[in-house]
Amino acid sequence: MTEPTERETMEFDVVIVGAGPAGLAAAIRLKQLAAEQGNDISVVVLEKGSQVGAHILSGAVIDPVALDELLPDWRDQGSPLETKVTEDRFYYLSETGGIPLPSLFMPPLMSNHGCYIGSLGSLCRWLGEQAEALGVEVYPGISVTEAMFGPNGEVEGVITGDMGVAKDGTHKDSYTPGIALTGKYTLLAEGARGSLTKQLIRRFNLDAESGPQKYGIGLKELWEVPKEQHRPGLVQHTMGWPLHDSTGGGSFLYHFGDNLVAVGFVVHLDYANPYLNPFKEFQRSKLHPRIAEHLKGGRRICYGARALTEGGWQAIPHLVFPGGALVGCAAGFMNVPRIKGSHNAMLSGMMAAEAAYAAIEAGRARDTLDAYPEALRESGTAKELKRVRNVKPLWSRLGTRLGVMLGGIDMWLNTLFPFLGHTLKHTKPDYASLTKASAAKPIEYPKPDGVLSFDILSSVFLSGTNHAEDQPVHLRLTDPSIPIAENLPEYAEPAQRYCPAQVYEVVEEGGSPRFQINAQNCVHCKTCDVKDPAQNITWVPPEGGDGPNYVNM
Ligand SMILES: Cc1cc2nc3c(=O)[nH]c(=O)nc-3n(C[C@H](O)[C@H](O)[C@H](O)COP(=O)(O)OP(=O)(O)OC[C@H]3O[C@@H](n4cnc5c(N)ncnc54)[C@H](O)[C@@H]3O)c2cc1C
Ligand code: SF4
Repeated sequence: MTEPTERETMEFDVVIVGAGPAGLAAAIRLKQLAAEQGNDISVVVLEKGSQVGAHILSGAVIDPVALDELLPDWRDQGSPLETKVTEDRFYYLSETGGIPLPSLFMPPLMSNHGCYIGSLGSLCRWLGEQAEALGVEVYPGISVTEAMFGPNGEVEGVITGDMGVAKDGTHKDSYTPGIALTGKYTLLAEGARGSLTKQLIRRFNLDAESGPQKYGIGLKELWEVPKEQHRPGLVQHTMGWPLHDSTGGGSFLYHFGDNLVAVGFVVHLDYANPYLNPFKEFQRSKLHPRIAEHLKGGRRICYGARALTEGGWQAIPHLVFPGGALVGCAAGFMNVPRIKGSHNAMLSGMMAAEAAYAAIEAGRARDTLDAYPEALRESGTAKELKRVRNVKPLWSRLGTRLGVMLGGIDMWLNTLFPFLGHTLKHTKPDYASLTKASAAKPIEYPKPDGVLSFDILSSVFLSGTNHAEDQPVHLRLTDPSIPIAENLPEYAEPAQRYCPAQVYEVVEEGGSPRFQINAQNCVHCKTCDVKDPAQNITWVPPEGGDGPNYVNM
């Protein structure tokens, strides 16, 4: 029998999992409220990345509405957001050309006027410094693996992952058991498809009334381009080629900072063709003249990928449970047509913080923070997300051309007549959207040219990803036989293609196929957890500090 693990326990008022914009905004708001009233409150933020920002991957064009509310003087405090949007371009692409879509036809809520372009990772690093200056304890390099429950099933806090466990489960010399961090309230700010969030949504049945959450995979590269080609403030989005009309997604390209260009591609994860390869779609998208002209003569600095939530207003689960709440993209406050979620992530964190602070002040602990969803329902975030709520369902049902056109009309109607009541539900989760390989057409992708398009392993290298080799595989298969026995014959094992880091391979061994997991390549995007058709893969956090080491993503 194994001895029960003896853990060190640390007590806080509020425990926050994830140092993204949502978690850090919540932490800062809690400390601000306490300072305003001459009180103190203990707040800890736990982050699995080796440093704050190391696991953050975003566009990013950032709506400053949340920063203005949280830290009104952020522009004068050395924040890394310095490039204002100056030009907004939108194209529907064919293979060689593109039709510009005038911003005149877009409802005002789609405008990027007043927004800033920058790296969300750098912004989080800066927010982390602001939080620490206010007395928040921010601990990077710590993976949170479990929640702790009290006698009535309420969340008491979290447990961090053990360090120094070998692949076979035995303890290495370096073994250190995870620690318990208890809080009056625990806020989950893990971002899209959080691993602990997934457990708690299930345990508390938080999605009983919302539809299934929808996701996309976003792939991104950071480029440095020749100075004469750099157009700081230029924002460009495209739809259409190289994706088939029935597959949602498109490219983004932002000029910012010192000769930097963020270029990326999003594929909606409800795509049907199991032969589709999001990484290769991204690589070939860069060959289009509308994109290539921005990158020519430049060099890639960084690569990465991350899932994003796309379900919108109707897919947001119930936000609170006894002892805590979901904030940011853990719940899913992404505005899909705007490709923006960071401002709502921050605003939701701030609203949850206000509810938690008031509860603690009233002597409460580990009950349900109902004031948070109440505030959210009345907020600008709700107003914004309700206006765009039908765009994604229309896009999924009708394809890009018709769906986006009707989605645009729907946004106008919801802008002009906000009390119109129709809400289209999402019909199925993304893992259920694949057609059988026998009914699908294989897709031929061009070979990488090494100039604009690249192979996957040299790309993963640029993510700086690193995992200690001798540790349990963090991609858990519920049934190890499914990839070869079911997924391979039925869907040509799509994990080989949807994973943007070549973690999954089907290799020949003794004349038979074998499913191989190269866990060390994983960039923590969570796509496999979303898209595996058998829902047989569970992403769990590896040792704290492992994973990508993104610089300015
Ligand atoms: C390709 C792409 C482009 C985008 N473009 C834009 C854009 O232009 N503008 C915009 O506003 N938004 C954009 N978004 C969306 C935006 O990035 C998200 O809305 C935002 O990052 C959500 O913030 P968050 O704090 O909820 O989660 P995240 O930013 O995902 O942060 C979560 C943090 O929690 C940590 N974490 C997770 N689980 C654990 C755990 N168990 N233990 C410890 N730490 C954990 C993670 O490492 C991470 O640091 C884009 C997203 C993508 C993927
Ligand atoms: S293994 Fe899963 S989480 Fe890791 S990079 Fe591949 S798809 Fe993303």
